[in-house]
Amino acid sequence: MNATVTGPAAIADGAGGFVIDTIEVAPPGPGEVRVRLRAAGVCHTDHASLTWPGPLVMGHEGAGHIDAVGEGVDYLRPGQPVLLNWAIPCGACRQCARGDEALCERTHEIDPARLGTSRAHAGHTRLHGVSIERSFHLGTFARYTLVRAEAVTPLPPTLPLEQACILGCAVMTGVGSAVNVASVRPGDSVAVVGLGGVGLNVIQGARIAGAGMIIAIDRHEAALERARAMGATHLIQAKDNDPEHSGLIADVQELTENRGVDHAFEATGVAALAFLPLLLTRNGGNALQVSGAHGEVTVAMPHFFWNKRYLAPLYGGCIPARDFPRLFGWIQEGKLDITSLVSRHYRLDDLGLAFDDMLAGRSAKGVLLID
Ligand SMILES: [Zn+2]
Ligand SMILES: [Zn+2]
Repeated sequence: MNATVTGPAAIADGAGGFVIDTIEVAPPGPGEVRVRLRAAGVCHTDHASLTWPGPLVMGHEGAGHIDAVGEGVDYLRPGQPVLLNWAIPCGACRQCARGDEALCERTHEIDPARLGTSRAHAGHTRLHGVSIERSFHLGTFARYTLVRAEAVTPLPPTLPLEQACILGCAVMTGVGSAVNVASVRPGDSVAVVGLGGVGLNVIQGARIAGAGMIIAIDRHEAALERARAMGATHLIQAKDNDPEHSGLIADVQELTENRGVDHAFEATGVAALAFLPLLLTRNGGNALQVSGAHGEVTVAMPHFFWNKRYLAPLYGGCIPARDFPRLFGWIQEGKLDITSLVSRHYRLDDLGLAFDDMLAGRSAKGVLLID
């Protein structure tokens, strides 16, 4: 338990490529745990990480078993199944203290010299003897990862790891944006533009919150059918030849007595669509951009009239200790469907294929099984 271990990992080279190579992972220091990963979700962010400054151990979603615990971590034990979570709340900074744990000032490195960061101790992970960075301080495309104990949440032993591993990104972001951030209430009306991993989970969150009308909007018929299975009550197929979205806006108006919906979400990842929710929501309604799209967009001020609230929430307002047990419960009650979100499993060696399937839209969500 107190020895360094070695295992395979996917390493991004910083120039758009990656290799599978062997990393060394040190035993945990105080307040840290080492996790033996079993499954990891593959996300568009992982593909983007191929060009982040490298070399970098990839992956920010995962589940596995505790392999070793450091000093002071007496509430976790080796062999315990855990979920990894990339927004690692310190529990002590100003944002954590006021309940905004996804905005933890250590995770966001607001003032690392004063507050510290969410990193594990220096030099914990090495490639060919040289210290290496990990995606979101996790690096889940690997057999072993060493993380701060706050990065793990114990899993119920009955929840399969190859399903649970996707909870720490798209599921939390989508469901949490509906339930925690927009605070959808029973009977509310909701519209969701873009039905990938995040959008489908906004729909699930809205359904769990008791929304009356859930309008799913996408260009692809297959995505609309997936949304119907997740709880959408109305489907609108967006047209390619409607740059001003006038047809789409008219359809939503018609469904809502010309009012607009109570909550409109953009989940496409296309920056040009970031303000579309403002045109779909009612006066005083919520417009949310949950896809984290970057890029420059201009918006006409009247889009905000009147009393519309615009938010770009991070990670569905996740408070791990509150939200993950709630997600586990909803899965066990059959309210939250994660099995049909995972379309294919891959070996770590087949990460390239997983990326190809994701980019071509052949899979809703791919999962790496790590042996
Ligand atoms: Zn992700
Ligand atoms: Zn904090």
